[in-house]
Amino acid sequence: MKALILVDIQNDFTPAGPGKPRGALAVPDGDAVIDVANRLMPSYGLVIATQDWHPADHKSFASRHPGRAVGDVIDLNGLEQVLWPDHCVQGSAGAELCEAFDRGGIHEVVRKGTDPDIDSYSGFFDNGPPGRRQTTGLDDLLRSRGVGEVHVMGLATDYCVKFTALDAISLGYDTHLIEDGVRGVDLNQGDCDRALDEMRRAGVNIIRSGLGNEPVRFYRTAEEHGCFSNFAPFPVRLDGKCWPTTEHYFQAQKFDNPEYREKIRTANSPAIAARLGRSRKIPIRKDWESIKDDVMRRAVRCKVESHETVRRVLLSTGDRKIVEQTTRDNYWGCGSRGTGKNMLGLILMEIRAQIRDRGLESKT
Ligand SMILES: [Zn+2]
Repeated sequence: MKALILVDIQNDFTPAGPGKPRGALAVPDGDAVIDVANRLMPSYGLVIATQDWHPADHKSFASRHPGRAVGDVIDLNGLEQVLWPDHCVQGSAGAELCEAFDRGGIHEVVRKGTDPDIDSYSGFFDNGPPGRRQTTGLDDLLRSRGVGEVHVMGLATDYCVKFTALDAISLGYDTHLIEDGVRGVDLNQGDCDRALDEMRRAGVNIIRSGLGNEPVRFYRTAEEHGCFSNFAPFPVRLDGKCWPTTEHYFQAQKFDNPEYREKIRTANSPAIAARLGRSRKIPIRKDWESIKDDVMRRAVRCKVESHETVRRVLLSTGDRKIVEQTTRDNYWGCGSRGTGKNMLGLILMEIRAQIRDRGLESKT
């Protein structure tokens, strides 16, 4: 049987929302996992929520250590301990599971972090010394229900989610992490990426929440797949120069005139670069139509290869179709009736296949 483990989806770990103050240890965008959880719960035979549940004098709180600040790392009974703000205090509103979270879909709640002297990141055991970690009862619960496969998601990627998934693997569960169902703290930049890598290396299968094979649609840079846009602020180094965006590079290549190319390269925004590139006051290269696909390919490939974030987002789309969702462009995008050529989407899919073949997704 398959169980869904929802890690610490609690008020203190989520940002402010309607009628809800910001949590004491709010994970950026943490409430985004709630919809994923609600959507997934009905498809699992067993749904377990873990709940961080600390006594008020818990030693992981910076307030218990005079002279220390949140984020400091101390030695706590021989173990490294990051100091946190007071959070998830037993009985407090902050410790409650989130309101928007469909609590009726949860079969069991497993509490952790109840010992004042020791923190508990994993949903299975506290952080105690190897071999002497106290169990939360989660392992027994799963075994008693005949669970062999667990799917883990929740908060936060780089702490409780990571340690829960790693323990699940070491306890012999077939363990999957739902990548779009987690958000992290990133106390040090890159912590979340490193956590995903560590889980992957330990044998955790990183999956998506099964939005099925819906196409990935992108257009605005601020959206989930916005890094695919040529306007997204990912510089590329090509032809010996640095271009602020792929749009700058692409537009400039239309022209033989070096001064005009430079003017486009130094344009203050991709929108200005696009406007300059569409102007026909300066003649464009005669062979432009025949080379433009390759120019775009070169720009996009350079962006994907130079930026780990873009590469990760691209690989996370699996085998889904990628579509530039714009009514205004029938060539690069899907066009007004969805019948456009979607050339930019096709190029992204082509590059995705290439980097997957080369195994670039693994940093090791
Ligand atoms: Zn805690």
